[in-house]
Amino acid sequence: MSKNIQTDLIHAAGHETAKKIAQSVSTPKVLPIYMTSVYNFDDVDSLEAVYAGEAAGYVYSRDSNPGLLAACEMVATAEGSESAEVFGSGMAAITSAIIANIKAGEHIVSSPVLYGGVYNFFKNELPKFGVEVDFVDFSNPEDIKAAMKPNTKIVYTESIINPLMNVCDIPAVAEIAHAGGAKFIIDNTFATPSVVRPMDHGADIVCYSVTKYMGGHSDLIGGAVAGSKEDVAKIHKTLAMYGCLMGPMEAWLLTRSMRTLDMRMKKHSENALKVAEFFEKHPKIEKVHYAALPSSPDHALAEKLFTDGMCGGMMAIDLAGGEAAAVKLMEVMPNIKFVPSLASYSTTMSYPARTSHRAYNEAELKAAGITMGTLRISIGMEEAEDIIAEFAAGLDQL
Ligand code: PLP
Repeated sequence: MSKNIQTDLIHAAGHETAKKIAQSVSTPKVLPIYMTSVYNFDDVDSLEAVYAGEAAGYVYSRDSNPGLLAACEMVATAEGSESAEVFGSGMAAITSAIIANIKAGEHIVSSPVLYGGVYNFFKNELPKFGVEVDFVDFSNPEDIKAAMKPNTKIVYTESIINPLMNVCDIPAVAEIAHAGGAKFIIDNTFATPSVVRPMDHGADIVCYSVTKYMGGHSDLIGGAVAGSKEDVAKIHKTLAMYGCLMGPMEAWLLTRSMRTLDMRMKKHSENALKVAEFFEKHPKIEKVHYAALPSSPDHALAEKLFTDGMCGGMMAIDLAGGEAAAVKLMEVMPNIKFVPSLASYSTTMSYPARTSHRAYNEAELKAAGITMGTLRISIGMEEAEDIIAEFAAGLDQL
């Protein structure tokens, strides 16, 4: 104690208190949020030992933080992977996974139908750094094979492809990538590990926007990658260099949310199938894109690859009335709102041509099969009969 309260308050509840807490024989039922940018050390040798991996400890939260390790453990557990890493956004996760595995003069083969931000990165950003990207139709493995070059290092797609929910033939793509000496990196955001674990089918690195189902409550922005220890360690270096790490609050929210991921995905999937069956019979809907429907061209693949035939909560519909009908439906629904994101607890609608795929020009939209009447629907966890009743009333107003 000094005579200066201000100085005493600055030193109270610091290094010594934190050490006492760490030695406690009891642990918190729920891990705390580690809101600290940096760590105290008793001496330089302790810091050196942490850097050398000879002592457990943390240095600086751009590199790591205990709460982040908990979130990484959750992702690796869900994925069944050796390792995982979490990021400040899905884009940070995907761009880090790509940058860690490519350099100038090398080549990527990608599906042209992707989350628009990633398409933009491939089409407009990577060429600035001397990386060439070719887009081919992933529904035809022969096209992927034909696009492979001696310098192809990455084959990239999504497991359930945004926004028309085509299912990727993961084992076939993995085989082609590996035969050409490339890594197969896959975005599993729409499916989650509850629906499919892509590494079980040959993928090397799995990426997530955890902003979506993994978070599930529309209250965090984040990303994750899962893979082998070696692949994740390589991506971690990129992450730390570019400063892409997830914040401690988001890591805590993600850890909390993932405890219910599997239950949530079952409910999303059950609801979505019932709603898709309703849409399929509706005269104002031209087409329903949802692989759990036996009429879907992707149904057999979903049955083969997805756990218990679950297809998650994402679907798309093409409205017979085109743009006017799509715009009107988004205006007349009392609870099911136009939300330019997805995978929340409640049902929402999005308009790919103007949101996720706004980077696509008219020809690219057409080639991807996205029309001005296409709405992407994220089915939530309300009771299915209530979701159907609201859509029925909304469609009646078109
Ligand atoms: N991947 C998919 C399939 C997405 O839908 C999104 C965003 O909508 C992203 C990646 C990017 O994630 P984030 O918005 O968390 O950066």
